[in-house]
Amino acid sequence: MPTLKDVISRYDSICAFCDSLWDKAVIYNPDQIHCHAGCSDCCELETVSAIEAFKIIMHIGLNAQTCRSTNNPGCCTFLENNRCRIYSCRPVICRTHGLLLKSGEDSCIQSCPYNFQGCKNPDQTSILDWESLTINLMKINMAFCTLAGFPELASQRILLSDITSGKIPDKLTFALSSL
Ligand code: SF4
Ligand code: SF4
Repeated sequence: MPTLKDVISRYDSICAFCDSLWDKAVIYNPDQIHCHAGCSDCCELETVSAIEAFKIIMHIGLNAQTCRSTNNPGCCTFLENNRCRIYSCRPVICRTHGLLLKSGEDSCIQSCPYNFQGCKNPDQTSILDWESLTINLMKINMAFCTLAGFPELASQRILLSDITSGKIPDKLTFALSSL
């Protein structure tokens, strides 16, 4: 029977896997990648799963009000001066922006429009199977919510703006204190 820490460790492994794909993408496709610090067109995230909210709260601390954003509507609440304020614990989806993505074996490959422009033969080892990743994430989130004692949160999305304004679900706060 896995523990809460085991499940969180599995989530961390997925983050590390995405980061390793990025390393490969940069090594094998150096001329195709246009991501750089200050480019934030993809930073429009509004909600996260319970385990991702939990990781962010662990990172910023429970006094989340100090993290209040002054961002424009439509931008992620953690974006400030075109930089991510929670970069080291950003959610998985943020770690996949700009990568080559496919959904299942036969789907076409997509990426941010700035990257891989006109690339006809991308390195296959740096392509992320989005469908498999999403299924894994859903399983991990379900295990996290079940082990933490709030399975009903597994099907809910948590607003990032609620985290930055201190409206953190009590159950997540409790899970934090139980680790
Ligand atoms: S969490 Fe960070 S990387 Fe993700 S959308 Fe927000 S600002 Fe961008
Ligand atoms: S994925 Fe696209 S929009 Fe996001 S940082 Fe990279 S180049 Fe910029």
